[in-house]
Order: sequence, then structure tokens, then C-alpha cells
Amino acid sequence: MNESFRADLHSHTTVSDGMLSPKALIDAAVEVGLSALSITDHDTVGAYTDETVGYAKEKGLQLVRGVEVSSFFFGESIHVLGYRIGEMKNFLERMRVRREGRNREILEKLDRLRRPISEEELGPLDKIGRPHIAMAMVAKGYVESLPAAFIHYLKEGAAAYCTGEIVETKEAIAAIQSEGGIAVLAHPHFIRKKRTIESLLELPFNGIECYYGSYPRKEEEKFITLAKERGLLITGGSDYHGHDNKHAQLGSSWVGKDDYEALIRAKA
Ligand code: AMP
Ligand code: ZN
Ligand code: FE
Ligand code: FE
Repeated sequence: MNESFRADLHSHTTVSDGMLSPKALIDAAVEVGLSALSITDHDTVGAYTDETVGYAKEKGLQLVRGVEVSSFFFGESIHVLGYRIGEMKNFLERMRVRREGRNREILEKLDRLRRPISEEELGPLDKIGRPHIAMAMVAKGYVESLPAAFIHYLKEGAAAYCTGEIVETKEAIAAIQSEGGIAVLAHPHFIRKKRTIESLLELPFNGIECYYGSYPRKEEEKFITLAKERGLLITGGSDYHGHDNKHAQLGSSWVGKDDYEALIRAKA
């Protein structure tokens, strides 16, 4: 086994709500000594241009085509990671329209709360996420910090929160797998109830994101056991978004060569 092989399978770029461009992220991945990386932007594969793919190749970094899809399972927000995915054209177009509508709804709610933000201040509503709205709220002096924007306005159940069109977790899995992609349950660490995880795993997931962000290994063992019991793939990643306070550093969570190769070889 090659112990120095590390694959960070969860990261974001400026194509969604990350702070680094795809190229800058690839540079950063090489810098921290990763052998493989997956860019898993929210609801988009826009980072995977020929230029980005070529750049990773040039730098000797293995790039796994990925995405992180937002879905709901009995009303709870659940993220699904897709790896080795196809174009997912129809599904991602639906997600684009969903995001645009959801963001517009959030802005309408903020307006009613006398915290107006114009579309011009944000850029195209189909290409932004809640972190961009949070940043605009800080810039306009509505809140003191990004976490405060989420706590008071944007997190699930807060004053300006909106779900947008509900896309079920099983639909997300089906969209990923219908083109041969691998569907992985993202960060189960966030799911409070053990029963929810068990119900979720009755869906045809191919894997579980066992290693995540900066969680201590001890808390992750239960997910590794669960994956092994069920014959599911074990994945992991930092969910790096850039240098913010919420997310971990690039390369802080990763899988070794064995788990990586199992992912690369797996059939959906
Ligand atoms: P969206 O996909 O537009 O719903 O935004 C989701 C993103 O918002 C997540 O991936 C995080 O980057 C960020 N986020 C969610 N909850 C929080 C929070 N409580 N504090 C800071 N950022 C958050
Ligand atoms: Zn994000
Ligand atoms: Fe996520
Ligand atoms: Fe993520």
C-alpha cells in the first residue's frame, strides 16, 4: 500500500460557493501534496471544462469528475455526492432553475424583513448560493458576520429560509446513477438521528462519505463500520470552500489508495 497517496474527494470552487477558481484549487491541491481531487460544486459541473481537466493532467493530479447535489429526505436537507458522473444535463438544468427560484424567494423574504438586496448586487441568481447572500448582508451592514447571517436569516427554519422546489434524495441518486455515476451520502456526520441514516441507507446509495472535514477519527468509525457492513464504498473529503471559518482546510480529510481505487473501479 502506498501510504503517501491521498485523495480529497469533496471541494468547491468559484463555480459554486468556493473561493478559489478551479485552476487555483488544483494548484492548492498539488501544494498540499494530494494525489487526487474531486471538485464537487453544488448542483453544477461547470468547473469541468477541457481547460481545467487539461490543467490537472499537466500538474499530475488525478481529477475525479464530481458534483454535490442538494436534495430532501422527509423534509430534511440531504446532500448527495456524485462521482464519475455524466453530463446529467436535464437534472442539473432542473437544479439550476430550482436554485434561481429559491434565491429569488429568499430575496423576497429579505425584502419583507426590510433587508433588501438587489439582484445586481449578487450577480446571476442561478449561479450563487446562500453564502453569497450572507456576504451581501454583511457588506450592507444587516448583520455583523457570515455565521450571524445564517443564524438569523438563512439556515433551515430561519426567517428568510426557503426550500425551493423539493428534489427528493432518491431522484438525485437516480439522476447520478442513470449515467453510470456513483452516488454517495455526503457528510452523514450532520444527521442527528441514527434512524434517519438507516432509512436513507435503504436508498440505493453506492457509498458513504465517512471521512469528513475536521471530524475526529473516533466519530467517523461508526460510518466506516456501517459502510463495511453494507458493502458500500468509503469516501472522504474536506469540503474545502476556501479560507472561511466554517469549512476545513484542503486535504484535511481524504481517502487512501485502496478506497480511492475501489471508487474508480466501482460499477454503479
Ligand atoms: P446553498 O447550496 O445555496 O443552499 O448553500 C449551502 C452552503 O451554504 C453550504 O455548502 C455551506 O457552504 C453554506 N452554509 C450552510 N449553512 C451554513 C452556516 N450555518 N454557516 C455558514 N455557512 C453555511
Ligand atoms: Zn457550499
Ligand atoms: Fe454539503
Ligand atoms: Fe460541500
